[in-house]
Amino acid sequence: MFFGQAREFTRSLAFRLCVWFAGAFTASAAVLFCLLYLLLSSFLQRSEQEVIEARLKECAAVYENSGLPALNELVHRTSFERNDGPFFVRVTGPLGSVLLLAAPADWVQLKGRLDSDNTVRHAWLRIPKDDRSDFTIASTALPDGSVLQVGRSTNRVGTLLGPFMTSFLVVMAPTLILGIIVGLLVAHRATSPIREVMKTARKIINTGNLAERVPASQAQSELAELARQFNRVLERNQSLIRGMRESLDNVAHDLRTPLTRLRSSAEIALQGESIEQVRNALADCVEESDRVLTMLNALMDITEAEQGMMRLQKNRVSIVEILEQVVEIYRLIAEEKNIEIEVVSSDPCTVEIDPNRMRQAFANLIDNAVKYTDRGGKVSVKCEGANGTVRVTVQDNGIGIPDNETIRIWDRLYRGDKSRTQRGLGLGLSLVKAVVEAHKGQVTVFSQIGVGSTFQVSLPVTESKEPSITMPDGRPVSTVVASQPLQTL
Ligand code: ADP
Repeated sequence: MFFGQAREFTRSLAFRLCVWFAGAFTASAAVLFCLLYLLLSSFLQRSEQEVIEARLKECAAVYENSGLPALNELVHRTSFERNDGPFFVRVTGPLGSVLLLAAPADWVQLKGRLDSDNTVRHAWLRIPKDDRSDFTIASTALPDGSVLQVGRSTNRVGTLLGPFMTSFLVVMAPTLILGIIVGLLVAHRATSPIREVMKTARKIINTGNLAERVPASQAQSELAELARQFNRVLERNQSLIRGMRESLDNVAHDLRTPLTRLRSSAEIALQGESIEQVRNALADCVEESDRVLTMLNALMDITEAEQGMMRLQKNRVSIVEILEQVVEIYRLIAEEKNIEIEVVSSDPCTVEIDPNRMRQAFANLIDNAVKYTDRGGKVSVKCEGANGTVRVTVQDNGIGIPDNETIRIWDRLYRGDKSRTQRGLGLGLSLVKAVVEAHKGQVTVFSQIGVGSTFQVSLPVTESKEPSITMPDGRPVSTVVASQPLQTL
């Protein structure tokens, strides 16, 4: 159990981040220390050499100006008093005999090794004294052929750097521990949104509860943003699934009525005594079947358009002409209800669209406007173009739509409470929205209960790559393309 948890922990992102963090932290501290050590040691060695060189020059000047006795006097007067430590001073004659030697007692035994430098005219020599310290000796040839050597133990470099090394080791251990602790805290904190996302995903999978969400965080990090986006995806999925369930319920509900009627008509046909009776019953059957088929076709069209799979046969057409054709179809129904209906436009509004699909969409909007407007009302259809967009407005002064319904009217099979007395499948506006969006357009509604509704369709005016084909009379060819039978839902 414990080992399992430990193994899981060592595989976690937080642990890996922590190891990386602690490693990087310690490595940078080590590099920094090494750099400091190198800088310090080179600085100390350089200053050592400067001290030795100054002493060498001083001795050479005394020797040249005042001779060996004066040098002897200077060396023995000053060498062991100075703060910068005992100096080794030796003058070797041209034949190799030692003319002057001043050195601390323990240096004398190194005499043999120091002799090896006699031939050098001006050089630096580092001689290891023992395991822990060494000398640095500078030599110069004097005008009379003698060689002057001045040296000093560089022990003090080691003495100064030794505590530095010790403190480095002393500091590194807590640094590593601190790195691990800080790394753990930082990594644990940084990866907490990922853990929350995982926890939520696991809960949804185990319980099937789509309402689960990652707890909200105000942080601005990418991981917090990831958690927020994850919540948005969940939100969207939940609403899509809710919509699908509702659609399925509605389809089942809406199919039951025509299918029940279809069944009873078929029963009547079976039991019919006269041919007339059988014919009437079969005619009812056909009507109900058409209703079911219309509904299923519309549902499939909507799904196709929503998934971006609707095949559009686009042509450059005048929208005003299409609107006039549709209004002509509804004029009779409007007249029966004493509704005034008109198309207003100063511009043909030529756009590249699928004329059959858009005709269907406009027909549904105009059908609704006439359907939901009381006797004596008015329906006005307008088309205007501006800034690369064509805007079609279908306005009525009918019953209006309550505020709480304006969002839902676009849902499949949704019918407003007040509209149930009218014929309809509740698919018209879903189809309008799907078709308009398939044309990269937008449809919006402004409505006030008892005052009327205004539906507005905006379509982008895309420039056709191919030249538009026109009829001999100059009309775009699409307006005369054989149109599909108009279907309102
Ligand atoms: P249907 O008209 O078959 O009920 P739609 O999808 O065409 O279905 O419309 C959905 C709902 O939107 C309608 O049931 C109605 O409540 C409301 N609606 C649509 N157009 C209008 C309108 N012009 N005036 C008032 N209500 C409307």
